[in-house]
Amino acid sequence: MAQISDDCFAFGGQMRPIDETAALIASKLSAVEEVETVPLLLADGRVLAKKMVASLPLPPFTNSAVDGYAVRGADLPQTVETAFAVAGRVQAGMAANEPVRPGQTVRIFTGAPMPDGVDTVFMQEDVSIDGSGRILLPPGLKKGANVRPAGEDVALGEAVLPAGHRMRPQDIALAAALGFTELQVRRRIRVAVFSTGDEIVAPGDMRGPAQLFDSNRFMLTAMLARLCCDITDLGILVDDSRLIAEKLSEAALSHDLILTSGGVSTGEADCVKAAVESAGTLVFWRVAIKPGRPVAMGVIDGTPLIGLPGNPVASFVTFAHIARPAILALAGALQPPPTPIAMRAAFSYSKKQGRREYVRASVRAAADGCYEATKFPREGAGLLSSLVATDGLVELGEEIVRVEPGHTVQFLPYSSLM
Ligand code: AMP
Ligand code: MG
Repeated sequence: MAQISDDCFAFGGQMRPIDETAALIASKLSAVEEVETVPLLLADGRVLAKKMVASLPLPPFTNSAVDGYAVRGADLPQTVETAFAVAGRVQAGMAANEPVRPGQTVRIFTGAPMPDGVDTVFMQEDVSIDGSGRILLPPGLKKGANVRPAGEDVALGEAVLPAGHRMRPQDIALAAALGFTELQVRRRIRVAVFSTGDEIVAPGDMRGPAQLFDSNRFMLTAMLARLCCDITDLGILVDDSRLIAEKLSEAALSHDLILTSGGVSTGEADCVKAAVESAGTLVFWRVAIKPGRPVAMGVIDGTPLIGLPGNPVASFVTFAHIARPAILALAGALQPPPTPIAMRAAFSYSKKQGRREYVRASVRAAADGCYEATKFPREGAGLLSSLVATDGLVELGEEIVRVEPGHTVQFLPYSSLM
């Protein structure tokens, strides 16, 4: 496992700004070094261990973009329709026939290689045939029209994807087009996940009158799976800091990250904080973010721990803004910042200065055709239905204290946070 020092996150202040938190995490966690080879079909979401270089131009050969008739550029009709004899036929997958001579045309189909000599293709819809079977080509077509030159998409030797890139379906398509059958990727990050709380029971177990079913562990596991983590589900721990400390120490031995939810506030039953302090080092636990302020970061025997708050919405938001960057750093992934979409607010809202807030919002088209963000009507950090009913989060920066309808706000779709 990657090892980090106990005090690497040390911080003396009160509430840590979210950007500072994310930058600190990214700078302190180093990527796993092990590399493995995966078949291309299993590469979705994996992190490239080295840059991908084109060992082939794309397209690999010059070919026709349409079904039609190919001619030499020098023969193109300038002012009047001109008749050409058909000298041959070339279909996709066939080798190009012998060179086309001046004044001749060749029947050609989409994807077929261009024979030597010709460089321009007339679409079949634009030509006609005379009584003796000759093809009448209209004037006005530009030399090179309807042809896809070799290498126009990707040049031979071009670096198409950088090391650290997380493979998406379109990247896998590009790799396949270049002839790759497998890729070298960083190994998956091993993450141990716990829920905590005397009141939390697993769905399917007996639920007492003052208990609720664990939703966080399922949400977090699904988010971790999207980040291609190897997940160890360690269930639910009761609020007993000695027991939690034992479990954390055990998990630290064989994981790259420990992720917990619940038990990081200041209440007496908030045992995760105390457990981290006894099993390792607690490094910060208050981040200037709403929802989600209490977030614990710790190091246990060299393994980082992130303790998310128990309220499901707070857990979701802090996963997206703190745990996700940490996981991507451990995975060796490049992290282009999520690009918010500027949008008109259709709500009013007041907030405290000095804290970043994320407002659950839906997007709708207004009467003028512009898109606007509407706020979920209630604010509780425990309202799971608010995450289900909305499309993303409006990000309100530390300096903002008031939003009015018509203001421009920054919207982050949920898809950009997973
Ligand atoms: P805590 O952070 O432990 O103080 O918990 C805050 C709130 O989140 C409490 O109402 C908990 O019951 C609730 N909660 C904690 N853990 C979970 C969980 N795994 N699933 C659903 N709700 C939870
Ligand atoms: Mg609790």
